Amino acid sequence: MAGEDASLYALMESNFPVDRNRIAMELPDRGGSAWSFDDLSEGAGRCAGFLDALGLKKGDRVAVQVEKSPEALLVYLACLRGGFAFMPMNTAYRTEEVDYLVGNAEPALVICDPSRESEIAEIANRQAGAKVLTLDAEGKGSLADALAAHGNEQLPPVPCAPEDLAAILYTSGTTGKPKGAMLSHRNLASNGLALRDTWRFSADDVLLHALPIFHAHGLFVACHCALLSGARMIWLGKFDRDRVLAELPRATVFMGVPTFYTRLLAGSGLDAEAVRNMRLFTSGSAPLLTETFDAFRERTGHTILERYGMTETGMNASNPYDEERRAGTVGFALPGTEVRVTDDNDNVLPQGETGGLQVRGANVFSGYWRMPEKSAEEFAEGGWFRTGDVARIDEDGYVHLVGRAKDLIISGGFNVYPKEIEEIVDDMPEVDESAVIGVPHADFGEAGVALVVLRAGEALDEETLLARLKERLANYKVPKRAFFVEELPRNTMGKVQKNLLRDEYRETCRPAA
Ligand code: AMP
Repeated sequence: MAGEDASLYALMESNFPVDRNRIAMELPDRGGSAWSFDDLSEGAGRCAGFLDALGLKKGDRVAVQVEKSPEALLVYLACLRGGFAFMPMNTAYRTEEVDYLVGNAEPALVICDPSRESEIAEIANRQAGAKVLTLDAEGKGSLADALAAHGNEQLPPVPCAPEDLAAILYTSGTTGKPKGAMLSHRNLASNGLALRDTWRFSADDVLLHALPIFHAHGLFVACHCALLSGARMIWLGKFDRDRVLAELPRATVFMGVPTFYTRLLAGSGLDAEAVRNMRLFTSGSAPLLTETFDAFRERTGHTILERYGMTETGMNASNPYDEERRAGTVGFALPGTEVRVTDDNDNVLPQGETGGLQVRGANVFSGYWRMPEKSAEEFAEGGWFRTGDVARIDEDGYVHLVGRAKDLIISGGFNVYPKEIEEIVDDMPEVDESAVIGVPHADFGEAGVALVVLRAGEALDEETLLARLKERLANYKVPKRAFFVEELPRNTMGKVQKNLLRDEYRETCRPAA
């Protein structure tokens, strides 16, 4: 007989409470209705049965660009259960972005919002010959209709090998084109278990879930902790300060990007009483400022636990649960994961020195979808993945992230890759060249600023340029400001010196005093 079943879905079900009637998801957006663990299992089974009947085969991609809903989570669980690869797409992606991803991944099925059906159907048909179904935030659409017609037949969980593909998450690279990180059942399961145990999740927990689920943070980190411990989730469609404050008193765990915390702190209502049942607040996806960390502790008595991860690896490091949680650090490598800091030639540096951060472990992905060469380039000998983050490990072993080698901008917790925007700006007929940099922003942490060199004799204003970008890019990627300059500063190798630009334009996105 082949090796043991490594299906993440089977692992989840084995951790569901013995009493399957216990509540798995509270749905305040649906008038306070709730789903039990039995509902989840049955819903995933029916949806997997439907996908199977549709003709999907093991390993087929299911591309999903929908508003957050409990049904969207069911589609994910159905994919895990049926051995299909779940491929979430950011809801902010516009036509051009979806077109590229669908062309690259060639899914067998695309699920989209009803409002975009005709546009996505054209793309799905042209790029992949894929079927299209719709799902809205209320769980309605042609997917719901088809499921109703399919009836109650369930697909039993399909056994999976550890390396079987569970999900593909696209993440942009320095090339500007997104790359599909291939995540296996082993990657996701090992990381989920490590987080569950490190953060002491149990069936008594109530996780307030306000993160999007097209990203690893909300989909994997948050949902896996809950589903691998039989905990309950309070499921919010999005982060809304008032809604979060209203639900917080019933929750025991909350996970956020730093922007969530700065927003919670801005205004009244966040106090010790509001967090009376909480045991854990975590933060990640972007740096948590020490002032936010301190202010939160002062206001609530809770010390936010900061952790670090990325799409390709899941979570790599976390501040400790019991010992000191240190501001400005991401703690220690998680169990089963190793981290090291190296020079540009992959030589390990002495503790305390700053260099490239590399990680290794069962959590680390196997490569990018259909990009074997690019994938191989990202790994050093011995299976070490070069994260592209620059870090230092202090004398006590805490990891400090000090920068990003690849000029990534993180705005409101979302990654923005300058190259992708620069290419669009450079395509404009009036433009000679451009550079996009990240500068401090009070609300988003960082915001993009475009520096643009016009062709001789051409004219273009800031408003027009930004409006054109808005038509083609998700809002969070669009720079907050654009400035027109005579030339870009370059070094002798011809590379644009973005560090000089960052210094010069540092103050352009701070609020007026
Ligand atoms: P993503 O693939 O969208 O999850 O983005 C991964 C990147 O986010 C990492 O490579 C880091 O640069 C950054 N990141 C994640 N967590 C943190 C953190 N706690 N502090 C600073 N940067 C972080």
